Amino acid sequence: MSYIEVKEGSKLSVPNNPTIGYIEGDGIGPDISKASISVINAAVEVAYSGNKVIEWKKILAGDEAMEKTGKHLPQESLDEIKKCVIAIKGPLTTPIGEGFRSLNVTLRQYFDLYANVRPVKYFPGVPSPVKNPEKMDMVVFRENTEDLYAGIEWKYDSEEAKKLRWYLKEQFGIKLTDDTGIGIKPISRFKSQRLVRKAIQFALQNHRKSVTLVHKGNIMKYTEGSFKEWGYQLAASEFGDSTITEDEYLKSPGSAGWKVVIKDRITDNMFQQVLTRTDEYDVLATTNLNGDYLSDALAAQVGGLGLAPGANIGDVNAIFEAVHGTAPKYAGMDVANPTSLILSGAMMLNHIGWNEAGEVLDNAVHAAYSEQQVTQDLARQMNVKALKCSEFGNEVIKRMKKIK
Ligand code: NAD
Repeated sequence: MSYIEVKEGSKLSVPNNPTIGYIEGDGIGPDISKASISVINAAVEVAYSGNKVIEWKKILAGDEAMEKTGKHLPQESLDEIKKCVIAIKGPLTTPIGEGFRSLNVTLRQYFDLYANVRPVKYFPGVPSPVKNPEKMDMVVFRENTEDLYAGIEWKYDSEEAKKLRWYLKEQFGIKLTDDTGIGIKPISRFKSQRLVRKAIQFALQNHRKSVTLVHKGNIMKYTEGSFKEWGYQLAASEFGDSTITEDEYLKSPGSAGWKVVIKDRITDNMFQQVLTRTDEYDVLATTNLNGDYLSDALAAQVGGLGLAPGANIGDVNAIFEAVHGTAPKYAGMDVANPTSLILSGAMMLNHIGWNEAGEVLDNAVHAAYSEQQVTQDLARQMNVKALKCSEFGNEVIKRMKKIK
């Protein structure tokens, strides 16, 4: 087996036959994983004519792991993902009562996958609730490891909540009633800046026009507000030659040239802007909770979660995954829409530097949609015949063309 190696901290050295891990997932996971792996393999074959090939390594997690090992996420699986460096996963059910909130959150924390990256782009022909869905072409960089998702919260009647209420009253004169639960929102400079760094690097590498820092700093000044300040500071200190602030740009519009414009917007305004001035936004960098809401709302604007790909990226490891969940009512029926995971596969190919294969895959999915080849979730709205999950995969493969 040839594993991907990480050099100089975070540079990938990718052999021509890398071992890449895959977690099938629960519910519709096995169906969409099977279709996606066939499509990814086909894209690699079309792009490199057999000179590159992925050697897939199955990694157990979720219900299947529980059945076979007695654990939802065995240590061997974590070790295997670590070795592979890169993995792709189907959705996992969140088990109740195992001592952690979610397998997905556990994976993100274990591998410090701090950037949740979600591109949102319109596919011609897909039904959308807005008039000009084609104006959407954004990539959300959502901080994955802190904010209210850090899980620092206590029920109103817990000892911890009582102690905290007492402390707040004694030390700061803040009085909270006895029926108040408490959550803590940590936002640090280091974690904010590494996220913004990733967003700016992505913008520069992909010739994107702007990075918008989305925050609620008008109200939460020292968490959300600091995220914005630290974002601007990082842009100035590390990318001073290649970025320009929106204020500077507006004073002298010609000065941007090829520079990435750094803007910021308050979250509530941003939800408005993505609907009313969609094409003015490009890469977004934001805190965890804002990013959670915003990325689902953006996906809805262009046809829903079935099409939304995602990646969780750290300095070393990366795990690519569909944004949606296990859709248990469609489990094992071969009817789910595999697009989200297929497009996550395209992101994975780009991430390992196999951009030609990523492009072959992306173009083929576009071609399938523009010819109204869709699964039942969209077929109903488009009034066309529904393809099965596996059939959709085959239609995508049929439309693959080598990039000249
Ligand atoms: P869900 O995303 O599974 O389903 C929401 C709705 O979208 C349902 O109507 C579902 O049928 C539909 N849907 C989702 N994906 C689809 C697809 N590919 N094709 C067609 N229809 C699709 O969300 P949920 O019902 O809230 O969660 C179900 C389970 O998934 C829960 O256990 C949850 O914890 C888990 N989950 C996992 C992930 C992950 O692994 N990253 C993400 C979200 C939810």
